[in-house]
Amino acid sequence: MSSEERPVLLKVEGLKKHFPITKGVFRRQVGAVKAVDGISFDILKGETLGLVGESGCGKSTAGRVILQLYSATAGNVSFKGQDLMSLNKEDLRKQRPHMQMIFQDPQDSLNPRMTVGSIISEPLVEHGKFKGSERRERVEQLLESVGMNREFTNRYPHEFSGGQRQRIGIARAIALSPEFIICDEPIAALDVSIQAQVVNLLEDLQEEYGLTYLFISHDLSMIRHIADRVAVMYLGRIVELTDSETLYSTPQHPYTQALLSAVPIHDPKHEMNRERVILTGDVPSPANPPPGCHFSTRCPRAEKRCFEESPEWREIEPGHQVACHLV
Ligand code: SF4
Repeated sequence: MSSEERPVLLKVEGLKKHFPITKGVFRRQVGAVKAVDGISFDILKGETLGLVGESGCGKSTAGRVILQLYSATAGNVSFKGQDLMSLNKEDLRKQRPHMQMIFQDPQDSLNPRMTVGSIISEPLVEHGKFKGSERRERVEQLLESVGMNREFTNRYPHEFSGGQRQRIGIARAIALSPEFIICDEPIAALDVSIQAQVVNLLEDLQEEYGLTYLFISHDLSMIRHIADRVAVMYLGRIVELTDSETLYSTPQHPYTQALLSAVPIHDPKHEMNRERVILTGDVPSPANPPPGCHFSTRCPRAEKRCFEESPEWREIEPGHQVACHLV
């Protein structure tokens, strides 16, 4: 199916998540950490949308708000046309099987006191899927589909390597046959030598089960490999979104250009001619973002209006959106 024919699976509109900062015994609100500050995008069925940015830019919070693990401050999220934010607890619970998350650190996300079998079957039990021997068979089949031995059901997470633990986490995430999975830095905690294996597994599962991914990562080389389209996030906002090929060949936003200029190129001739854009200064605090463009304090092209006016999020050509006054 070409990208034009794919239906929209998930729609995010003006999504915000502000964490209040409180003070004193009465917990008076004195400010807010604007972790996600008005982001909008669609994810098409069967595609992988990469969400990239430096750590602390709000991408993981965005993932959690989309899945309603955190309540949003403003905006909308709809899944297959259904507004997730209007659902009550029970209706949201019924939607859960369709949307899952794979976490960064398998060490933290797997209960060390539970066997692998009970970890993987937990969502099946919670949603009343399969009984007795059928459930056991399903768990073993899931282990096999993530490249692990069926016999491992009675073992504990500590008996496995980081890569194997992430495979167990993936088996658990696909147990209820979801359509949409948010992969939150799924390989960041793993040894470099096994990162590619886990990425390949996620790609194989996508093909086999027609999965749709939101792939959150700070690793631009890996995102280039796996994503159909890429959204670049800076200090709570998305600054550029387009297909992978366009983003990596002709990035338009100064922040995207700076990020990509730091990614090594495998061709030595091009590597020698590569121009690096060095960003000075630290990322400002999301509790106190600069007025106007959030990137203005570090942007090599910033001009007067950048410090006063927030740039509009607009489409510069079909399927390519940028938020910058100069683009
Ligand atoms: Fe830089 Fe101004 Fe564009 Fe922001 S709006 S990215 S500060 S040029």
